[in-house]
Amino acid sequence: MRFKLLVAVAALAASAAACAQPAAAPQSLATGAPKLLVVISVDQFSADLWDEYRPHFTGGLARLAQGTVFHNGYQSHAATETCPGHSTILTGDHPSRTGIIANNWTDQSVERSDVSIYCAEDEHVSGSSSSSYKVSPVHLLVPTLGELLKPAHPGSRNVAVSGKDRAAVMMSGHIVDQRWYWTGKQFATDLRGVAIPQVVPKVNAAITAALEQPRPALQPNPFCQAKARVIAIEGGGKPVGAGTFARNAEDQSAFRASPELDGDTLALAAGLVDEMQLGKRADPDVLAVSLSATDYVGHTYGTEGAEMCLQLLELDREIGDFLAMLDSRGIDYSVTLTADHGGKDIPERQRLAGVPGAARIDPGLGAGTMGLKLVTKLGLKGFGLLGEGPPGDVYIDRNLSPGDKKRLLTAAVAAYKAHPQVDAVFTAAQLAATPVATTPPDQWTLIQRARASFYPGRSGDFVVLLKKDITPISDTSRYVATHGSAWDYDRRVPILFWRKGMAQMASDAPIETTDIMPTLAATVGLPLAPGSVDGKCLPQVAQCPAAASAPTERGY
Ligand code: ZN
Repeated sequence: MRFKLLVAVAALAASAAACAQPAAAPQSLATGAPKLLVVISVDQFSADLWDEYRPHFTGGLARLAQGTVFHNGYQSHAATETCPGHSTILTGDHPSRTGIIANNWTDQSVERSDVSIYCAEDEHVSGSSSSSYKVSPVHLLVPTLGELLKPAHPGSRNVAVSGKDRAAVMMSGHIVDQRWYWTGKQFATDLRGVAIPQVVPKVNAAITAALEQPRPALQPNPFCQAKARVIAIEGGGKPVGAGTFARNAEDQSAFRASPELDGDTLALAAGLVDEMQLGKRADPDVLAVSLSATDYVGHTYGTEGAEMCLQLLELDREIGDFLAMLDSRGIDYSVTLTADHGGKDIPERQRLAGVPGAARIDPGLGAGTMGLKLVTKLGLKGFGLLGEGPPGDVYIDRNLSPGDKKRLLTAAVAAYKAHPQVDAVFTAAQLAATPVATTPPDQWTLIQRARASFYPGRSGDFVVLLKKDITPISDTSRYVATHGSAWDYDRRVPILFWRKGMAQMASDAPIETTDIMPTLAATVGLPLAPGSVDGKCLPQVAQCPAAASAPTERGY
């Protein structure tokens, strides 16, 4: 069904392709540079999943495995969430520089009752809240590759498509030609004054029609069937492990936690390639695609059941269809594929797999619960602590006196440190005094990981890091598994570079997702001033400059 949609969209746009007029090549484009940089983020695609499934891929992911493969890529920071992770990929910077410290953080100075700030909202829009917001890149403090290309290549287009608004925003930034994301009902954009491509209403109409029908179950192949084992879930959740993605009509949640969402996201991306003639003009274009279904599948079913197996094999096929479409258009493109963070399986199945310490978090560790306990103990007023939790950044109630804040901070740090599920607690002062690490990311200490997630003024008064194998979900009625920890199962992601004719290479070297942007910049000959990004150009992939020749404006 999704393949048919992709084909239909591609055929629709083919007539536009026939009218294209290629322009003359600009002087500054690096010799032989690709004309279209496709950058794909597969949400929650851990390096553990890559390593496990690599031999079973036969489609697009198998093709990308023929390029330069780093299976020890790192989202190096501690707060391994979607928004920070996507903010690193095309800026070249850690969250300590992008300012995107988490999906949500707390701002007690905001003039609304909801003090939670969503990473991709503009909270100053009247009537907004962190759950009903105006999508905006205002919190991203650095430019993306697509933006930086524009001064040197005025014809360059910066395009993003995603199953999530925050992923599209963080990969494209502030100066964007087209940006589309799934809202739960349709693909929408926050851009104003931009002509709506014809493909958008067509894809939306096709999805609406598909959703009106129930979806039959996918048939697992023997490899996936062997993983089908029903696992009971603690905390009220439904059993998981043997799902096949059968869906009732109009079930939006089941739609997005299935391969359907990725297929439709790629169909929209394919339609935009044709309609905008991406990769067909002289200036290089950037197409960022974030595929969200793997994340929703991971949260809903865990990562080691039949569901994830079906999802990843469908993803492999869908990416293969997308690359075949690019081939058929004769576009000279490169593909970079990575993830915004990794993920971990449900503790119930991990224990069966020989991880005896796997457990769900004690709900008493939430900032609200801990805060009330401590204000009672200390004889203070108010709620004491705020935080998006569980753990992560924790904020002291700003209405307390300076002396009471200090007492509460001391008591809270001690209380968290004493909890058997807590590994470390770092105060904002400790993090501010810690330099951002420049050593290989597999060697970073916990405070170095937390430092890369720290941005003064947005980060909490202290940060709480859980012990390894603790899943920070206790109420499993909505989701059963998650990511977000400072441990390598959440930090380590694949980073794949592919271009037609590229020599195959597999490397164990620990690299970072921040290295992607300077590597792609070198690929298209965009100079970056030394030190202007955290990441390093990868000589295994690009002809890296010995020293950048001209500083590049950075701002926001
Ligand atoms: Zn994510």
